[in-house]
Amino acid sequence: MHQIVIVGGGVGGLELAIRLGRSVGKKGKAAITLIDRGLTHLWKPLLHEVAAGTLDSNFEEIDYLTLGRRNGFRFRPGSMTGLDRARKTVHLAAVIDAKGEQVIADCSVPYDTLVLALGSEGNDYGIPGVKEHCIFLDSRKQADHFHAMLLNLFLRLMYQAEGVGTAIPALRVAIVGAGATGVELSAELHHVADKIKGFGFEHLEQSMPVHITLIEAAPRILPVLPDKLAAAAERQLKAIDVEIVTSGRVQSITEEAILLSSGQRVPAHLKVWAAGIKAPDFFKHLDGLEINRINQIMVRQNLMTTKDENIFALGDCAHCPQPGSDMPIPPRAQSAHQQAAVLSKTLLRRLKGGGPIDFVYRDYGSLVSLSQSSVGNLMGNLTGNHFIEGWLARFIYLSLYRSHQWVLHGTLRTLALMLVDILRRRIKPRLKLH
Ligand SMILES: Cc1cc2nc3c(=O)[nH]c(=O)nc-3n(C[C@H](O)[C@H](O)[C@H](O)COP(=O)(O)OP(=O)(O)OC[C@H]3O[C@@H](n4cnc5c(N)ncnc54)[C@H](O)[C@@H]3O)c2cc1C
Repeated sequence: MHQIVIVGGGVGGLELAIRLGRSVGKKGKAAITLIDRGLTHLWKPLLHEVAAGTLDSNFEEIDYLTLGRRNGFRFRPGSMTGLDRARKTVHLAAVIDAKGEQVIADCSVPYDTLVLALGSEGNDYGIPGVKEHCIFLDSRKQADHFHAMLLNLFLRLMYQAEGVGTAIPALRVAIVGAGATGVELSAELHHVADKIKGFGFEHLEQSMPVHITLIEAAPRILPVLPDKLAAAAERQLKAIDVEIVTSGRVQSITEEAILLSSGQRVPAHLKVWAAGIKAPDFFKHLDGLEINRINQIMVRQNLMTTKDENIFALGDCAHCPQPGSDMPIPPRAQSAHQQAAVLSKTLLRRLKGGGPIDFVYRDYGSLVSLSQSSVGNLMGNLTGNHFIEGWLARFIYLSLYRSHQWVLHGTLRTLALMLVDILRRRIKPRLKLH
């Protein structure tokens, strides 16, 4: 039977596995295998909420084994480390448990068709101190780590008045990169600080227990999004006292502070790096597949790699051209979601001997969540480009996640999950303080 192996169960890879599993996997017309280094899936755009503590990841993540059984694909845990194109195998590292014992030995998984959907990670651009002193928000583990550090700092602040906490004058968080992730995290952290005010911070001089600085190398925040959207987001951030430093090039980072090439020093207890992405470093040795300067795999417009017609790539880890533009498809959930839908059709055609379908990206606009509100621009073929703000923007922002859930769970389960979310918000505390 034809083996389709998908590596990476994120926004794009998981949706693809589910679409293929339901259409051919369940009927035994092809064997669909999904490989991921984790056992559970969490929609990546939720990570800043997990980090801030406004979302409990335990409620949102779903395990791949259950999804596989329900949807006709096989899930295999493992971290991809290499590729052998001649033998048509993917190499996986051994799975090791917390005690260091081997759970699954390293192995090679055979494929007829391979899809690489491994996403991206933060790019430190080789700047000294970033890896050592900054937190990246690429995985649930990192978001949980940030959350734990944030809570400990809150506890220090809370108990220093009794003389039992280690004294710190104020809690300072600095976020490098004012793209959507940095902007969304700033707003979310402000929201948390506002909520937590009444938990025993009366002894502090400042009204808010957290001071947030957002640093951006470009002359304005949200540099790749339209001016009007960026201006609205900046207005809202300034209104909640987020300090914004634009044209701020980071020179180095120490345990205490972020040093800019202008000579400015931004002291911070917590430092988050959200300034650009790259595909995994091991892609540099992917058996001759062509990559760009940030390790993304070069694919044709039909998502087939430029060097191998049996290997496809999608999402953040792929460099896919856009006709009529110098820029590749942007690394967004929206892109990965659309690519999964088109690639599933291509792979179904391939099973019958048909050719691939070109992917055409449809930009429906961009939405940025500012915690309780959102700003965005909507693009419509007929209606043109519309700026939106407030509850409508918030509603459309949330609908992107709902459409992901709809692919994963179908209509009834998605509606049930929406109802559970509403009930949970009424019953459970809004903040996760553990
Ligand atoms: C905080 C935050 C907020 C964001 N907000 C938005 C937003 O509002 N709108 C938007 O459009 N986009 C947003 N994005 C970007 C969006 O999350 C990504 O563009 C999208 O997740 C890319 O999908 P993907 O399928 O390519 O990769 P991912 O969703 O990142 O999935 C990659 C998968 O590959 C797995 N993997 C990685 N390496 C290996 C390996 N070696 N072996 C096996 N498995 C591996 C990972 O575990 C993961 O499951 C946000 C990103 C972040 C971090």
